[in-house]
Amino acid sequence: MTKPRLTLYLAAPRGFCAGVDRAIKIVEMALAKWGAPVYVRHEIVHNRFVVDALRDKGAVFIDSLDDCPDDRPVIFSAHGVPKAVPAEAERRRLLYVDATCPLVSKVHIEAERHHANGLQMVMIGHAGHPETEGTMGQLPPGEVLLVETLADVAALAPRDAAKLAFITQTTLSVDDTAGIVSALRARFPAIVGPHKEDICYATTNRQAAVKAIAPKVDALLVIGAPNSSNSRRLVEVARAAGCGYAQLVQRAAEIDWRALAGARAVGLSAGASAPELLVREVTDAFAARFALTTERVETATENVAFKVPRVLREPA
Ligand code: SF4
Repeated sequence: MTKPRLTLYLAAPRGFCAGVDRAIKIVEMALAKWGAPVYVRHEIVHNRFVVDALRDKGAVFIDSLDDCPDDRPVIFSAHGVPKAVPAEAERRRLLYVDATCPLVSKVHIEAERHHANGLQMVMIGHAGHPETEGTMGQLPPGEVLLVETLADVAALAPRDAAKLAFITQTTLSVDDTAGIVSALRARFPAIVGPHKEDICYATTNRQAAVKAIAPKVDALLVIGAPNSSNSRRLVEVARAAGCGYAQLVQRAAEIDWRALAGARAVGLSAGASAPELLVREVTDAFAARFALTTERVETATENVAFKVPRVLREPA
């Protein structure tokens, strides 16, 4: 039987960002330097495939520092941690390595600077996400007010409307956040903040590539985990850009092929914590079912890389 024709538009950039790449390297280098087990507080990045591969090499993922013995190294995830976590590690004299992405640390520093200048913070972010918890945990309770929606902005009750600053999670939707920032500036004209927001280059670039592809495809798949904020935003961006069927899949096995029956053009991207190996797995699955043409849609080139902490660059 002849296979139906299909064009697969591959988003570029897609997949691993510099912060995820660095966090995975940190765990691998810690295992090489100190041997297994190395403890990791929280999923190092939001991808089960990556986490399972590191677990196989000797990483032990824990939810709380209480689960880390005193005599083993512990690593903090790329999303960042509240200040209380390294403070507790120091109190217990644990050997710890902080894999917080430098672009998240930059937001932590902004928050501290504004707080030192007497400003109360508004954080645009998702409640319960580890990055939001880590960033809010840089300041004392009550100093960071979380907003997720325009309704939250309308209901905001700051201590002093003239002494406010805002920061954002790094993995938000660029378009939705622009609306929330405008609402904040309209309601609190004195609010201080970054020029636009704190959304990182990787989030911005991956969303732009999806936006370019979405109008020309029947369906768009994003490889990523359900708890990966930047991956979920890519699905929303595709839908908002007019793609009728946009879906998050963790691996090829999750693709709903019946939903793709009749499709002639499909877009494919991957969240910042999804390895390229999974993109190949999905591409191969398409090639098995369709007479496939692939086309790369490149909207930006990236050459960002972050160094791992010095303790891992030094010999044991
Ligand atoms: S998505 Fe952005 S902020 Fe998050 S780890 Fe990657 S580069 Fe850093």
